[in-house]
Amino acid sequence: MSFKDLQLNRPLLRAIAETGYDEPTLVQEKTIPLVLNKKDVIVSAQTGTGKTAAFALPILQLLYDKQDASKKGKKIRALIVSPTRELAIQIGENFKNYSTYTNLRSTVVYGGASIEPQVDALKKGVDILIATPGRLLDLHKQDIANLDYVETLVLDEADLMLDMGFIDDVKKIERLCTKEKQILLFSATIPYKVEQLANTILKAPKRVEV
Ligand code: AMP
Repeated sequence: MSFKDLQLNRPLLRAIAETGYDEPTLVQEKTIPLVLNKKDVIVSAQTGTGKTAAFALPILQLLYDKQDASKKGKKIRALIVSPTRELAIQIGENFKNYSTYTNLRSTVVYGGASIEPQVDALKKGVDILIATPGRLLDLHKQDIANLDYVETLVLDEADLMLDMGFIDDVKKIERLCTKEKQILLFSATIPYKVEQLANTILKAPKRVEV
Protein backbone atom coordinates (compact mmCIF):
# COMPACT_ATOMS: atom_id res chain seq x y z
CA MET A 1 0.00 0.00 0.00
CA SER A 2 1.12 3.55 -0.72
CA PHE A 3 0.24 6.88 0.88
CA LYS A 4 -1.58 7.73 -2.36
CA ASP A 5 -3.82 4.67 -1.86
CA LEU A 6 -4.80 6.21 1.47
CA GLN A 7 -6.36 9.12 -0.48
CA LEU A 8 -4.06 11.74 0.99
CA ASN A 9 -3.93 14.98 -0.95
CA ARG A 10 -1.03 16.42 -2.93
CA PRO A 11 0.39 18.89 -0.41
CA LEU A 12 0.61 16.09 2.14
CA LEU A 13 2.01 13.54 -0.33
CA ARG A 14 4.71 16.01 -1.28
CA ALA A 15 5.72 16.61 2.35
CA ILE A 16 5.67 12.86 3.05
CA ALA A 17 7.91 12.16 0.05
CA GLU A 18 10.36 14.87 1.09
CA THR A 19 10.46 13.48 4.62
CA GLY A 20 11.61 10.24 3.03
CA TYR A 21 8.72 7.93 3.92
CA ASP A 22 8.25 5.32 1.16
CA GLU A 23 5.13 3.64 2.42
CA PRO A 24 2.75 3.83 5.37
CA THR A 25 3.47 1.82 8.49
CA LEU A 26 0.86 -0.69 9.66
CA VAL A 27 -0.68 1.65 12.22
CA GLN A 28 -0.93 4.37 9.56
CA GLU A 29 -2.53 1.99 7.06
CA LYS A 30 -5.17 0.97 9.58
CA THR A 31 -5.81 4.30 11.28
CA ILE A 32 -5.74 6.91 8.50
CA PRO A 33 -8.91 5.71 6.69
CA LEU A 34 -10.86 5.60 9.98
CA VAL A 35 -9.84 9.14 10.89
CA LEU A 36 -10.69 10.42 7.40
CA ASN A 37 -14.13 8.82 7.86
CA LYS A 38 -14.54 10.84 11.06
CA LYS A 39 -14.71 7.78 13.32
CA ASP A 40 -13.69 7.81 16.96
CA VAL A 41 -10.72 5.46 17.26
CA ILE A 42 -8.82 3.68 20.02
CA VAL A 43 -5.33 2.81 18.86
CA SER A 44 -2.98 0.65 20.85
CA ALA A 45 0.47 1.31 19.47
CA GLN A 46 3.89 1.89 20.94
CA THR A 47 6.11 4.85 20.17
CA GLY A 48 8.24 4.02 17.14
CA THR A 49 5.37 2.54 15.11
CA GLY A 50 4.64 5.78 13.28
CA LYS A 51 1.61 6.57 15.42
CA THR A 52 2.12 10.33 15.30
CA ALA A 53 1.71 10.48 11.52
CA ALA A 54 -1.25 8.09 11.88
CA PHE A 55 -3.23 10.94 13.44
CA ALA A 56 -1.35 14.00 12.14
CA LEU A 57 -1.73 13.24 8.41
CA PRO A 58 -5.49 12.59 8.33
CA ILE A 59 -6.14 15.52 10.68
CA LEU A 60 -4.23 17.83 8.34
CA GLN A 61 -6.20 16.47 5.42
CA LEU A 62 -9.57 16.99 7.15
CA LEU A 63 -8.64 20.54 8.10
CA TYR A 64 -7.23 21.30 4.66
CA ASP A 65 -10.32 20.04 2.87
CA LYS A 66 -12.66 21.98 5.06
CA GLN A 67 -11.31 25.50 5.30
CA ASP A 68 -13.81 28.26 5.66
CA ALA A 69 -12.40 31.32 3.94
CA SER A 70 -15.17 33.46 5.40
CA LYS A 71 -14.08 32.75 8.97
CA LYS A 72 -12.14 35.65 10.35
CA GLY A 73 -8.91 34.50 11.94
CA LYS A 74 -7.92 30.95 12.64
CA LYS A 75 -9.68 28.78 15.19
CA ILE A 76 -8.24 25.78 17.03
CA ARG A 77 -9.89 22.95 15.11
CA ALA A 78 -7.61 20.11 16.19
CA LEU A 79 -6.31 19.66 19.73
CA ILE A 80 -3.65 17.12 20.65
CA VAL A 81 -3.16 16.51 24.35
CA SER A 82 0.14 14.97 25.39
CA PRO A 83 1.34 13.98 28.87
CA THR A 84 4.85 15.39 28.54
CA ARG A 85 6.55 18.44 27.15
CA GLU A 86 9.07 16.35 25.18
CA LEU A 87 6.35 14.39 23.44
CA ALA A 88 4.35 17.57 22.76
CA ILE A 89 7.38 19.19 21.12
CA GLN A 90 7.97 16.09 19.00
CA ILE A 91 4.36 16.02 17.85
CA GLY A 92 4.61 19.74 17.06
CA GLU A 93 7.67 19.14 14.87
CA ASN A 94 5.80 16.40 13.01
CA PHE A 95 2.82 18.69 12.31
CA LYS A 96 5.10 21.51 11.13
CA ASN A 97 6.86 19.14 8.79
CA TYR A 98 3.77 17.48 7.30
CA SER A 99 1.95 20.83 6.89
CA THR A 100 4.77 22.50 4.92
CA TYR A 101 2.69 22.76 1.72
CA THR A 102 -0.56 23.71 3.39
CA ASN A 103 -1.48 27.02 4.94
CA LEU A 104 -2.40 25.28 8.20
CA ARG A 105 -0.74 26.59 11.32
CA SER A 106 0.14 24.77 14.52
CA THR A 107 1.77 25.57 17.82
CA VAL A 108 2.83 23.78 20.98
CA VAL A 109 2.15 24.87 24.56
CA TYR A 110 3.50 23.20 27.69
CA GLY A 111 4.26 23.91 31.31
CA GLY A 112 7.65 24.64 32.81
CA ALA A 113 8.32 27.32 30.21
CA SER A 114 7.45 31.00 29.92
CA ILE A 115 3.80 31.47 28.97
CA GLU A 116 4.16 34.76 27.03
CA PRO A 117 5.49 33.38 23.73
CA GLN A 118 2.77 30.72 23.87
CA VAL A 119 0.13 33.42 24.39
CA ASP A 120 1.54 35.40 21.45
CA ALA A 121 1.49 32.35 19.19
CA LEU A 122 -2.13 31.58 20.11
CA LYS A 123 -3.19 35.19 19.61
CA LYS A 124 -1.89 35.05 16.04
CA GLY A 125 -4.28 32.15 15.44
CA VAL A 126 -3.62 28.45 14.90
CA ASP A 127 -5.58 25.58 13.38
CA ILE A 128 -3.83 22.92 15.44
CA LEU A 129 -2.81 23.10 19.09
CA ILE A 130 -0.56 20.55 20.76
CA ALA A 131 -0.61 20.90 24.53
CA THR A 132 0.14 19.41 27.90
CA PRO A 133 -2.97 19.36 30.13
CA GLY A 134 -2.07 21.86 32.89
CA ARG A 135 -0.81 24.61 30.62
CA LEU A 136 -3.76 24.16 28.28
CA LEU A 137 -6.24 24.64 31.13
CA ASP A 138 -4.31 27.73 32.29
CA LEU A 139 -4.47 29.26 28.84
CA HIS A 140 -8.15 28.41 28.57
CA LYS A 141 -8.87 30.04 31.92
CA GLN A 142 -7.12 33.17 30.70
CA ASP A 143 -9.34 33.17 27.58
CA ILE A 144 -6.33 32.62 25.34
CA ALA A 145 -7.13 29.10 24.14
CA ASN A 146 -10.69 28.89 22.83
CA LEU A 147 -11.74 25.26 22.48
CA ASP A 148 -15.25 25.95 21.11
CA TYR A 149 -14.23 25.02 17.56
CA VAL A 150 -12.28 21.80 18.18
CA GLU A 151 -13.43 19.20 15.65
CA THR A 152 -10.85 16.53 16.46
CA LEU A 153 -9.38 15.80 19.89
CA VAL A 154 -6.39 13.47 20.22
CA LEU A 155 -5.39 11.97 23.56
CA ASP A 156 -1.87 10.70 23.01
CA GLU A 157 -0.20 8.21 25.34
CA ALA A 158 -3.43 7.96 27.32
CA ASP A 159 -2.03 5.30 29.66
CA LEU A 160 0.86 7.56 30.65
CA MET A 161 -1.50 10.52 30.96
CA LEU A 162 -3.61 8.64 33.51
CA ASP A 163 -0.53 7.28 35.34
CA MET A 164 0.64 10.87 35.72
CA GLY A 165 -2.66 11.81 37.37
CA PHE A 166 -4.16 13.83 34.54
CA ILE A 167 -7.54 12.06 34.47
CA ASP A 168 -9.56 15.01 35.80
CA ASP A 169 -7.74 17.46 33.55
CA VAL A 170 -8.38 15.26 30.52
CA LYS A 171 -12.09 14.97 31.34
CA LYS A 172 -12.30 18.72 31.83
CA ILE A 173 -10.57 19.38 28.51
CA GLU A 174 -12.95 16.99 26.76
CA ARG A 175 -15.94 18.84 28.19
CA LEU A 176 -14.54 22.22 27.08
CA CYS A 177 -14.55 21.12 23.43
CA THR A 178 -17.70 20.91 21.30
CA LYS A 179 -19.93 17.88 21.81
CA GLU A 180 -19.83 16.72 18.19
CA LYS A 181 -16.07 16.33 17.96
CA GLN A 182 -14.17 13.26 16.86
CA ILE A 183 -11.91 11.71 19.52
CA LEU A 184 -8.79 9.65 18.84
CA LEU A 185 -7.23 7.86 21.78
CA PHE A 186 -3.70 6.51 21.46
CA SER A 187 -2.15 4.34 24.14
CA ALA A 188 0.75 1.88 24.31
CA THR A 189 -1.38 -0.38 26.50
CA ILE A 190 -5.11 -0.33 27.24
CA PRO A 191 -5.44 -0.96 30.98
CA TYR A 192 -8.86 -0.86 32.65
CA LYS A 193 -8.77 2.84 33.46
CA VAL A 194 -8.01 3.77 29.84
CA GLU A 195 -10.88 1.52 28.74
CA GLN A 196 -13.12 3.24 31.27
CA LEU A 197 -12.15 6.70 30.02
CA ALA A 198 -12.76 5.59 26.44
CA ASN A 199 -16.19 4.23 27.39
CA THR A 200 -17.08 7.56 28.97
CA ILE A 201 -16.06 9.92 26.19
CA LEU A 202 -15.71 8.08 22.85
CA LYS A 203 -18.66 7.34 20.56
CA ALA A 204 -18.82 3.85 18.99
CA PRO A 205 -15.03 3.72 18.68
CA LYS A 206 -13.23 1.61 16.09
CA ARG A 207 -10.20 -0.25 17.38
CA VAL A 208 -6.74 -0.55 15.91
CA GLU A 209 -4.08 -2.81 17.38
CA VAL A 210 -0.56 -3.12 16.09
P1 AMP B 1 6.33 7.67 16.15
O1 AMP B 1 5.89 6.27 16.43
O2 AMP B 1 5.21 8.55 15.67
O3 AMP B 1 7.10 8.27 17.29
O4 AMP B 1 7.33 7.60 14.89
C1 AMP B 1 8.56 6.93 14.95
C2 AMP B 1 9.49 7.33 13.82
O5 AMP B 1 9.08 6.76 12.58
C3 AMP B 1 9.60 8.82 13.58
O6 AMP B 1 10.97 9.15 13.46
C4 AMP B 1 8.89 9.04 12.26
O7 AMP B 1 9.44 10.12 11.55
C5 AMP B 1 9.11 7.74 11.54
N1 AMP B 1 8.03 7.40 10.58
C6 AMP B 1 6.72 7.62 10.72
N2 AMP B 1 6.04 7.14 9.66
C7 AMP B 1 6.94 6.60 8.81
C8 AMP B 1 6.84 5.95 7.54
N3 AMP B 1 5.67 5.75 6.94
N4 AMP B 1 8.00 5.51 6.96
C9 AMP B 1 9.19 5.70 7.59
N5 AMP B 1 9.34 6.30 8.78
C10 AMP B 1 8.23 6.76 9.40
